[in-house]
Amino acid sequence: MSRITVRIGHLYPDYLNIYADRGNMAVFERRAAARGLELEVSAIGIGDPVKAGAHDLYYVGGGQDREQALIADDLAAKGEGLREGIAGGAAALAVCGGYQLFGRRYRDRYGGDLPGAGVFPLETHAGERRMIGDVLLECSFTGEERTLAGFENHAGRTVLDERAEPLGRVVAGFGNDGRSGYEGCRVGRAVGTYLHGPLLPRNPWLADWLLAQAAAHSTGGEPPVFEPLDDELEARAHAVSAARAKARGGR
Ligand code: GLN
Repeated sequence: MSRITVRIGHLYPDYLNIYADRGNMAVFERRAAARGLELEVSAIGIGDPVKAGAHDLYYVGGGQDREQALIADDLAAKGEGLREGIAGGAAALAVCGGYQLFGRRYRDRYGGDLPGAGVFPLETHAGERRMIGDVLLECSFTGEERTLAGFENHAGRTVLDERAEPLGRVVAGFGNDGRSGYEGCRVGRAVGTYLHGPLLPRNPWLADWLLAQAAAHSTGGEPPVFEPLDDELEARAHAVSAARAKARGGR
């Protein structure tokens, strides 16, 4: 059987990379290699076109308002390609600043409106008080009850459209806006979230889910079922992070 190639398009790695979000890419690389997947990672920067179908997984990390302002117009111009790609079954992971700009718009703390890519049906506006700390979520979209543990640090309040699907329920932490009880957003195989950590080293099940969805896009078939890996260290990291979030208490 020939090897499956998964093509990752990493959007703006030079601008959106706060909290070592590159750790998420390292997890994709390690877990793909362990499953015999061929990973091709390419940076997508300012001025580079996004052609639907050319990537199986898009990744965009977090950044402060300043970095977001530098790339927002360019990302909005890539919106059509991204939306078309995701509607065609490509996977995506958008974290924090990248998550905000995968929505329709972000009103920053200076009152400026940054346009978004329009992948997720949501809008964000910056509030006065930053929402900072460890977070624990419950998610059920894989058909199993799962948890996600991470760290949030955002001034943005994200409001989902009425029928939009969140990523998970907040067990502890602020989540999208500190009020709704929900965190993140999902559209097709695209996931947006405020969770840093980086996210994937503490939550390898999400890395595997995204890689399997990306592999399905690559082959045009069903998502492969991966053999489990020895995730003892990852489980410990998750437990530490989840315990910190619980100690912080509810919202
Ligand atoms: N600038 C955004 C906010 O503070 C995102 C911050 C981040 O990516 N950590 O809401």
